Amino acid sequence: MKKIVLATKNPGKVRELRAALAHLPVEVVSLADFGELPDAVENGRTFGENARIKACFYREKTGCDCLADDSGLEVEVLSGAPGVHSARFAGFHADDATNNAKLREELRAHGVTCSPADYRCVLSFAGLDGTEYETEGCCEGKVALEPKGENGFGYDPYFYTADYPGRTMAELTIEEKDCISHRGRALRAMVRKLEEYLK
Ligand code: IMP
Repeated sequence: MKKIVLATKNPGKVRELRAALAHLPVEVVSLADFGELPDAVENGRTFGENARIKACFYREKTGCDCLADDSGLEVEVLSGAPGVHSARFAGFHADDATNNAKLREELRAHGVTCSPADYRCVLSFAGLDGTEYETEGCCEGKVALEPKGENGFGYDPYFYTADYPGRTMAELTIEEKDCISHRGRALRAMVRKLEEYLK
């Protein structure tokens, strides 16, 4: 049976990706199954470039077909920032709290209390036979200074999704978020391509 390695050690992402691929005739493993591996250098200018860098890098390092993702928040009034720098918006040792503080600070510095924004996710698949697929998912909404909700992670308490007016991403259940999220959308499109690939 073919093997696909997921280019992440994040257990939450592994669980989510595994569940979406469960019906496919393929063994799904993660980087954690390969012991110590070097980190890919994510120096792309776009989510797509970074996802492809990871997929190709770990295909080579593991000798397996590889599926990688890259995602982040794009805020209109900040000209698309933090974008590919979403995880490190507040600097090298950033975490969710410091990234969110930086987001509030930047909105205030631009003299606004909210701005149109979206979450974007790109998935990249690199097959051992040279096949490459890319799918993208976007979730539109706005960011605002007032946080609400306890669910999700990252910028979710500040992101008001257009699909559920008045609610932040952190007020949605996992199932509600999955239906409309950037990652859920990119993943469903990728699963359709992998169904063909694995036929
Ligand atoms: P990565 O794709 O795991 O590198 O995520 C990049 C960063 O984008 C995360 O650390 C979060 O700050 C942000 N991000 C991506 N997806 C989400 C989401 O669904 N909710 C909140 N923040 C997200």
